[in-house]
Amino acid sequence: MTAPRELIFLYHNLSAPGFEDPLGLFSRDWKDFKNDAKVLFEIYNHSLSNKNQTSILFSFDDGYISSMQASLYLYENYGFKSDIFIITSIIGSPGFLSKDQIYNLSLQKHIRLGLHGKTHIPYTQIDPHVLEIDLKTALHDLSSIIGKSVRNISYPHGLRNKSTDMILQRLGITKAFTSIYGSNRNYHAIEDDKSLKLIKRNAILSSDSSSDIKSIHNGPLRYFRRFKQSIPRFYFR
Ligand SMILES: [Zn+2]
Repeated sequence: MTAPRELIFLYHNLSAPGFEDPLGLFSRDWKDFKNDAKVLFEIYNHSLSNKNQTSILFSFDDGYISSMQASLYLYENYGFKSDIFIITSIIGSPGFLSKDQIYNLSLQKHIRLGLHGKTHIPYTQIDPHVLEIDLKTALHDLSSIIGKSVRNISYPHGLRNKSTDMILQRLGITKAFTSIYGSNRNYHAIEDDKSLKLIKRNAILSSDSSSDIKSIHNGPLRYFRRFKQSIPRFYFR
C-alpha cells in the first residue's frame, strides 16, 4: 500500500502583518483562513474516495499567538493537526507565544512544536560555527520549556544549503521544514543519509483565492509562478 500524499500548508500571522513582513504579504485574514480550512477539508474528503489519498497538515512559522488560536480552530472543526515553529529570542514578546502557552501547547495531541531559530536570521547568512552554537542553545531552551527533545526545525525565510542541512543533522534534527512548494510522499533525504528529511511546504499569501489554494492540490507549478509574481524582490534576502 502506498503512503498517502502529504500536503502541508504554511501560514504566518493571522489578520496582522507578521515578523519582517511590513506589507503583510504572508499574513492571512481570519475569514480567508477559515475558508481555506473548509476548502482543504473538502479536498481531503474527496481524496478518501479516490486512489490519490492526501493527508493535510498545517504549519505555522514564527510562534505568533494567532498560531495557537488557528491550530485549535483547525483541530476542533476538522481534526487537522498543526506544527508550530518557535523563535526562542522572541518568546513572550507582544503578539508572540509565552513560555506557559508553549508548554500548554506541548501537551496537546494535535500540535507538534519545533524550532524556527534563536533569531530569524537565515541560517545561510550565519557563520556555520556560530549557527551550530546558536541552534544548540535554542534547542536546549525550547526543550527545557516543553520537557522533551525537539527534533523538527523550520528554516527561517526557507533558506538552506548543504552546510546548514549537515548542521541540523549533527544536532539530531530529523525533519527540516522548507519553503519548497509541493507534496511529500517519500520525503527527500540528504544523499545517502536518511536521518534528516527535507519537508516541502506550500506558503499561503494574503492575496490567495480559493482557486489558488485548490491549484496547490492539483500541482504546485502554476501556483509557484503566481507566488513569484506577487512577492517583491526585496523579500528574497
Ligand atoms: Zn519565519
